[in-house]
Amino acid sequence: MPDNRPIPGRVKPTRRSLDRATVGASEDWRPPDKKYQEGEDRPGTLICPRCHAISDIKRWYYDEARYEQLKDQPGTGMINCPGCDRLDRQFYEGEVHLRSPLLVQNKQQALAMIRHQEREAMQENPIARVAAVQDHGEEIAVITTTPFLAERIGKEFKKAFDGRLRISKLPREKFSRVYWERL
Ligand SMILES: [Zn+2]
Repeated sequence: MPDNRPIPGRVKPTRRSLDRATVGASEDWRPPDKKYQEGEDRPGTLICPRCHAISDIKRWYYDEARYEQLKDQPGTGMINCPGCDRLDRQFYEGEVHLRSPLLVQNKQQALAMIRHQEREAMQENPIARVAAVQDHGEEIAVITTTPFLAERIGKEFKKAFDGRLRISKLPREKFSRVYWERL
């Protein structure tokens, strides 16, 4: 007969350790963010002081006028939203490699295009963020928190400057590497 009594001195298994066995071997286990998990159970409206996202019923969105009202109201909870949480945990799902001599002459436009695509993607999905932009003259590298945003940035460069676009997805993983090049 199995003995289910806890063994003295042994730590009770956590939900995370139990779940770990069911997570695919090829997938990297990432612990859920504690603050976000707590936030999900909290009643009422939540706001993120970093990016000004608002959550009413577990759905995050942006509305700057509403944020201004909510921030001074008692009862509004303040937590890191899932997008800012991804940035903190360095949870990345995309990279973009842009390469062209055109980038040197059009640097300001190129950087603005990257930020514009981020803003657009954030409206649809507040988790989508540009985590880093590395400017190396003819090359710009961008790290994103979602594969979709990486692909979106690549497609925008293809649309604006023509050139060649290649999107490479890692098998069985949610990650996109996007290459745009124009000679
Ligand atoms: Zn946020």
